[in-house]
Amino acid sequence: MKTVYTFVPSSGHKYPDHPERPGRLTLLEPRLDSFNAERIEPERATEEEVARVHQPKMIRAVEQACQDGPGIIDYAPTYVTRSSFEDAMLAAGGVMTCARAVMNGQAKNAFALVRPPGHHAEPHRAMGFCLFNNIAIAAQDTLTRGMKRVMVIDYDAHHGNGTQAAFLNDERAGFVSSHQWGIYPGTGWIDDAPHAKKRMANVPLHSLAGDQTFSRIADAVFEPMVKAFQPEMLLISAGFDSHWNDPITMLGLSTNGFYTLSKKLVDMAEEYCNGKIVFVLEGGYDPENVANGVAAVFSALTNSPVQVDADDASPYPEPDHEPRIAEIRKWHGFPA
Ligand SMILES: [Zn+2]
Repeated sequence: MKTVYTFVPSSGHKYPDHPERPGRLTLLEPRLDSFNAERIEPERATEEEVARVHQPKMIRAVEQACQDGPGIIDYAPTYVTRSSFEDAMLAAGGVMTCARAVMNGQAKNAFALVRPPGHHAEPHRAMGFCLFNNIAIAAQDTLTRGMKRVMVIDYDAHHGNGTQAAFLNDERAGFVSSHQWGIYPGTGWIDDAPHAKKRMANVPLHSLAGDQTFSRIADAVFEPMVKAFQPEMLLISAGFDSHWNDPITMLGLSTNGFYTLSKKLVDMAEEYCNGKIVFVLEGGYDPENVANGVAAVFSALTNSPVQVDADDASPYPEPDHEPRIAEIRKWHGFPA
C-alpha cells in the first residue's frame, strides 16, 4: 500500500523577520517528487471540526484578528495576516485528510506537511507560532469517526502543551512529548498530568540530547506507553527543531537520528496499530534540516533506503539521560 502526503505551504502566512516563515519549506518543495509517496489534496477543515478542540469564541477571535490585518497576537510572538485564518483551516484540514486516508485504508501511512504549525495552540488560545492545533483536531476527527483510542507522540524540541491541554480529560487520547527542558513554553515536566499515568507522558531533556538518547527513549518510554495505551493509530508531531543546529533550540538530533527515531515509530505502529501512523510537521527553522528530516521520515514510512546522505552528526557529546529515563519509567510504573 502507498504512502500519501498533503502539502500546505501557506505562502501568505508570513511576517517580517519571523522564523516561522514560508522559506522553511523552500528546500523541501523541489524534493517532494522524490519521496516515493503520492500527493493528495487537502480538504479545508470546517469550523465544527476545529471546534472539537477549540472554543468557538477563540476561533472567532483568531478570525477577527486575521480580518484586522497583519499583527502580533501574543508574546512568542505569534502573528497573523489576512490569509492566516484560511491557511490555518487548510493546515488543520490537511492533517485530517491524511488521517482519514490512513484510517479508511486508502493509504498505508501519511505525512501532513503543513504550516502554520499547531502543537502549542490550546483550546482557549493561539500561541507559540500556532493558530489551531492541527494534530489534536485530526485526532478528534478519527475518534468521531469510530476509532477507540489514538496517541500523539511529539518529538518537536518544544513541549506540545496545546495537545496536552486538548487531551487532558479525554480518556481516548494519549499523549507523549519529548522536549528540551527550560525553554518555551515552560511546561512539560514529568508530573504534569498525574491523573493520566500511562496515558500522558512528558520527557523533559537536557540540552544536546541527541541520536543515542532519542533512540533510547523511543525504546524505554515511547514503546511502553504505546503498548500500555493500545492506540489504533499513532499521530506524530514531527518538529525538526530537535536537530542540533536549529537556530532557536539546543537539542542534538542529526538527520540519521531522525531516521532511526521515525523508523522505530513506524515499527511501533506496525506492531500495535496495524501500521496506522500519520506524521505531522510542527517546528524546524533551518530549511535544510527540514528538507533532510522530512526525507528521513519518508524513508521510514516507505521502507526505502535513507534518501539523504546528510553528513550532519552532532559535534557535541550527549549528556547522560539514564537517571531521567529511570525517573520517568518509575513515575508511570514501568519496571526498573
Ligand atoms: Zn518547536
